[in-house]
Order: sequence, then structure tokens, then C-alpha cells
Amino acid sequence: MNITELLTRLGVNETAYAKGDLIVETPIDGSEIGQIVVDDAAAIDAKIASAQEAFLKWRAVPAPRRGELVRLLGEELRAHKDDLGRLVTIECGKILSEGLGEVQEMIDICDFAVGLSRQLYGLTIASERPGHHMRETWHPLGVVGIISAFNFPVAVWSWNAALALVCGNSCVWKPSEKTPLTALAVQALYDRAAAKFGDAPEGLSQVMIGKREAGEQLVDDQRVALISATGSTRMGAGVGPRAATRFGRSLLELGGNNAAIAAPSADLELSVRAICFSAAGTAGQRCTSLRRLFVHEDIYDSLVPRLKKAYASLPVGDPLGAGNLVGPLIDHAAFDQMQYALDRAKAQGGVITGGERVAEKGYYARPAIVELAAHEGIVCEETFAPILYVMRYRDLEDAIAMQNNVVQGLSSCIFTRDLLEAERFLSTTGSDCGIANVNIGPSGAEIGGAFGGEKETGGGRESGSDAWKAYMRRQTQTVNYSSDLPLAQGVKFDV
Ligand code: NAD
Repeated sequence: MNITELLTRLGVNETAYAKGDLIVETPIDGSEIGQIVVDDAAAIDAKIASAQEAFLKWRAVPAPRRGELVRLLGEELRAHKDDLGRLVTIECGKILSEGLGEVQEMIDICDFAVGLSRQLYGLTIASERPGHHMRETWHPLGVVGIISAFNFPVAVWSWNAALALVCGNSCVWKPSEKTPLTALAVQALYDRAAAKFGDAPEGLSQVMIGKREAGEQLVDDQRVALISATGSTRMGAGVGPRAATRFGRSLLELGGNNAAIAAPSADLELSVRAICFSAAGTAGQRCTSLRRLFVHEDIYDSLVPRLKKAYASLPVGDPLGAGNLVGPLIDHAAFDQMQYALDRAKAQGGVITGGERVAEKGYYARPAIVELAAHEGIVCEETFAPILYVMRYRDLEDAIAMQNNVVQGLSSCIFTRDLLEAERFLSTTGSDCGIANVNIGPSGAEIGGAFGGEKETGGGRESGSDAWKAYMRRQTQTVNYSSDLPLAQGVKFDV
């Protein structure tokens, strides 16, 4: 793992990480991999100012031409997928195939955004007045501030930036303080794409390095039209009201407490595989990770033992190592939170399988299954670790009610081959989440759909479908092409 060679190939200058105040450690073994130069308040102010300048120029560039910049970014990502994917693994600890998958997701959203750059469609609207027409047009918004979490250190930026750029905005990105190196690498790739593009305004897409205070400065800045913030619910509870006090827009992508229902007709083999990937994959550190499993009492004794057997054989270890499926938790604090949650589950009568630390260096934990009688207490909280709470149910109505009875509303699924049950789950009175799947686990979304969740997950939507509209301002336009001036609603005002 030669970080310097990797970063050099990605275009990051050693001065950016050789000496600075932010120490970065790899979760693989806890060793130091960089000391990053942190942006002070004046530097952040200057970055926002140049992003604002860049926006004023960029908004006038035709959208398909803006798409060309994102196409070039996608090309850089394709060319450097292996290096960037490896760096993602080194910095945040997800297994290599997931690190590479994260970069693939960036490439996919670039492709999507390029197509979108020719499809920022508005509406034409029938006017009630003769000689008039109405339409709805979408205009660029301004500077988009992107705050991202450690667990998707690069993909979340691309979901936002690829759309924001084709929509005519500039971007300032504050990555997680736990994963600044991947952000510097992405910035270097963007800079290469911008150089090939030729006339992208200076400062169109920038990264700023800092902790919570840096994020707060971005949120408070009047020049930032939209804050797109991904992270914990606690962070969102700070960011949302703060942005609202200055009437800034916010797009919040916060914590989840995702559930699966295993119904009597479930394909057990498929369910076990999907549950393992969703609950233990990424060491339980996805916002969409499966945390609660409701198993119908008729299949409990056939599904749960199979699941335990599969869990026992999950290879836990170095995420760069071939064959390993579960890497480390991000840090000591994450491991402590996992143990705290397991202690609380035990106090609630939970029967725990797994959960112990499995290596001396790095915080590797065997994914845990906790069997519980009641849906309460710690089960209703998001613990960002591989803990799966398993409960029995008898009626589908009860299972859906329990699934929905948490403050988060991100992702959900049902395993069933019964069409009526599947449709019931997907209906207006079924899952209350932003994402609802059938015979697929709750994690591992594709970029084509809108991504996000309800309730304390924040309500934001990113990525596919019409999520682009969050990055633009809507304008209703009425044109009178007659010589009369009829007023709406038949109002008379003759002068
Ligand atoms: P975190 O909330 O600790 O930090 C996320 C980012 O917010 C970091 O860049 C951090 O510096 C910044 N930040 C923290 N407090 C802030 C504040 N008051 N003002 C401005 N910025 C602030 O989250 P984390 O530990 O990095 O990530 C894990 C959490 O993120 C989990 O809860 C997970 O569910 C959630 N997450 C959600 C999604 C989603 O799309 N819904 C995706 C990934 C992660």
C-alpha cells in the first residue's frame, strides 16, 4: 500500500498531505497516511467568493456544453478507477470491490448527468387568457455547498456535483474530516477534466478541508444557495435550521434504520445472501445498511439458523485482501458504539451471536446477530456498525407497523413470492420509506432512481429521476403576445 505512488498517479501533490494539522489514519491498521493542510476561515471565504464568481460565468454556458465538462470528468474517473477505488478502500476501509463500485457509481452519475444536460425540460402551461402563453423554466441556482460523510467519501460528492454542474451551478465541497485524501484525489481528477475542457471558470468546483466548524461556515454563508448535507441525523438537525434562518435551501441525506421483512413464501437462499450483504457488507456502515429483520414465525427456525451459519463463515479482515467480505469499522469510537449498542441489546434480553473484535490492529468486528422479542429501545436507534436485530412476526400488518415505527425513513424491503404481500408492502399504507424493495436488500441502490428518505432521514432526494430539480430554481413565465391586457380571474382594472 504505497500511498504516495497512488496519490501521485491520481495527481495529488505531496505538499497537500505531507505536513498539516489534520491527521488521517487508515482504518486498515490505524497507521497514519497523511497530514492534511486545513483551510482556515479566510481561505474558505475566498473559495466561496471564487465559486460565486465562477457561477456567474458558468450559468451562461449552454447546458449541453456544461455536460461536456462532466463527460470529461467521467473519462478521468474511468481512467483512474483502480487507483481511486483502492484509495477509497485505504481511507474508509470498505472492501476493494466496494471501493471500485463506489467509483463506478461516480462514472454512472456522470453519464446520467451528460444525458441530462440536454434534458433539463420545463413545461408549457395552458393560459386562461387569450393571446397568452405560460411556461415553466429551470434556471441555475448558484453556489452549491456539499457536505459529505466518511462512508461514501467520493460517490456522494459526484451525485451532487455532476448534477449541479450540468444545471449551471458551481460547487464547494467539504468532505468528511475522516476522508480528505480521497477528496483531494477527486479534486485533482476534476482539475484535469477542467484543463481538457479549456474554458471552465476558475473555482467552478473546489474542495475545502476542515471539520464541523468549516461545514458551519459553509452553511452560514449567504452566497451558498443550496447546502446538500449527507451525514448523521444530529448533523442534519444542526444544518437544516441554520440554513433556514438565512432562507438558504438545504437537501438533507441523513441516517437510516432500515428494515427487511422475511415473509413465509420468501426464497430462503436468496434472502440469506441479500441479508448478509445488506447487514454485514461495508461492515454495516452504509446509510442503507440493514439493521432490523422481521421474520415470519413459520420460517424463523429455518431462516435464522441459515443466517447464523452464513455469518459464521463471513471472512473479516484487510479490505484489500482477496476474499475478505467485511473490513474494519472506521475508528475506535465506532467500535465503542457497537459494543455499547450490544450491551444495551443484552440488557433488553437480546441473544447475541458475534460482535467481538477479531484483530489487534484496526477495529475489525465480527458482524452480530441479536435475537430479540420486542421492537424497542436500542433497536429503534441507528448504530453505524454491523448489528442485525432479528424479531419474529405473525401478521404482515404488524411487521409493516414495526418497520415504520422508527424516526428514520430511508430504506426497506420485503422477501416474498406472494404478489399480494409485495404489493401491500409497496402500497400507500405499506413502507413509509424513501426506498422500498422486493426480493432485494435495502442497500446498494442504482443511480437511476431518486435516492433519499423520509422523516429524520431528512426528506432530500439525490441522484436519478428528477432529483436535478433541487439544483435549479423554477421560474413561471407568462407572455402576452396580443395587444389586449386581460387580467387573470376576470379582474377588471380599466384605466
Ligand atoms: P457525521 O454527521 O459525523 O459527518 C458528516 C459530515 O458533516 C462531515 O463532513 C462533518 O464534518 C460534517 N458536520 C458534522 N456536523 C456538522 C455541522 N453541525 N454543520 C456542518 N457540518 C457538519 O456523519 P459520518 O459519521 O461521517 O457518517 C455517518 C452518518 O451519515 C450515518 O448516520 C449515515 O446513516 C449517514 N449517511 C447518510 C447517507 C444518506 O444518503 N442518507 C449517506 C451516507 C451516510
